[in-house]
Amino acid sequence: MNQPITEFDPSCMDEYDPNSLPVSEARRRIETSVVPVGERERVALRSALGRVLAEDLLSPLDVPLHTNSAMDGYAIASSALERGGDGPVELVVAGESFAGRPCPSTIATHECCRIMTGAVMPQGTDTVVIQERVERDNGTIRFPPDAARPGDNVREAGEDIPAGGCVLGAGALIGPAELGLLASLGTVEVPVTRRLRVAFFSTGDELRSLGEPLEAGTVYDSNRYTLFGMLARLGVEPIDLGVVRDEPGAVRDAFAEASRCADVVITSGGVSVGEADFVKSTLEDLGVVGFWKIAMKPGRPLAFGRIGKAAFFGLPGNPVSVMVTFYQFVQPALRRMMGTTNAQPPRLKARTLGRLKKRSGRVEFQRGVLGRNEIGEMTVQTTRGQGSGILSSMHQADCFIILPMENAGVAEGDLVEVEPFFGLV
Ligand code: AMP
Ligand code: MG
Repeated sequence: MNQPITEFDPSCMDEYDPNSLPVSEARRRIETSVVPVGERERVALRSALGRVLAEDLLSPLDVPLHTNSAMDGYAIASSALERGGDGPVELVVAGESFAGRPCPSTIATHECCRIMTGAVMPQGTDTVVIQERVERDNGTIRFPPDAARPGDNVREAGEDIPAGGCVLGAGALIGPAELGLLASLGTVEVPVTRRLRVAFFSTGDELRSLGEPLEAGTVYDSNRYTLFGMLARLGVEPIDLGVVRDEPGAVRDAFAEASRCADVVITSGGVSVGEADFVKSTLEDLGVVGFWKIAMKPGRPLAFGRIGKAAFFGLPGNPVSVMVTFYQFVQPALRRMMGTTNAQPPRLKARTLGRLKKRSGRVEFQRGVLGRNEIGEMTVQTTRGQGSGILSSMHQADCFIILPMENAGVAEGDLVEVEPFFGLV
């Protein structure tokens, strides 16, 4: 890969870099160099939303606890289905079982019990005939013999979770379904991994914080807000260290403070090799640089390394690059450190509605909008602006279009890989 740049189309001289790491290799290196934080704590059930389970959770009971009816109808013994030969079955209504109010008596074969959904199956019964198939006449019911087969409409005790069974494994991410599952077992407190502390700051003399006036040549710092949003969604503890000037001493101080208080340090801007870019050199001085260039667009300069005990991500300054590199590299690393298994967001194929310009030698993450064509296939169209400074493209888009390294452009109608945003937390 050490060919001289001049062998390539001169128009891409500024883009091609033989020392850039392939995206997959960068992900692999990050993945193998971060480790889960071992510490854990117990939190109240509701506070466990978005957290990661720290140990396997075994069920203390059968769920459901009792065999119960799945429908409104009449509970019978399945042997009663043969009582009428080919003709209708006739049974005496001997009791009622409502949800939360079971029937105390045992039901004989010539009897049945009125039963509601979720109510406990009375002694002697194993089948429910749904009420729509039954004619009731005061104290008796009649129904055709094919109105139920033995065992119909019954939920067995423990069919969801048997007592002693593993309900959720260590590393499970606790979402709404998991909260409900834990509640169904009577769980009051949940053992979860400690919340990750993630410090972040922006670098750039041109950056102004909200509330400050914008003079010529200045911009509001949006990256800290995007980063805050992505971090908060992941359930980590975001530590906002503000804006740091493009000055070696200031960057140094910020690095030192961030690495003292956090498990992970994220910066944006100042990571290329311009006159005012001090992130990489500071990382070299105070810590270890793993790599700092990736063969991708947007997001080529991305420094990954370590300062003290903290993992370090120096993201590019451009607002779209921040989001792309966060989702592709930082989020999987944070998930791993949180102790959860990394579910890759789903990647699907969609037919592109236009031609896509692309240079080979790097992976591109273009912003797209999904749709359907007249024959029901998924389609994708790029957002208008694809520049790495056009943050509104991330608002308009609902997916990344991922064009692989070797790809050198896509014709209209070709299939391309897309990563829908709904797969991202
Ligand atoms: P840099 O990577 O520092 O060279 O910055 C690249 C571009 O991103 C420049 O146009 C910066 O003004 C812009 N930029 C850097 N940091 C931020 C930020 N925190 N918010 C908004 N724009 C930024
Ligand atoms: Mg800068």
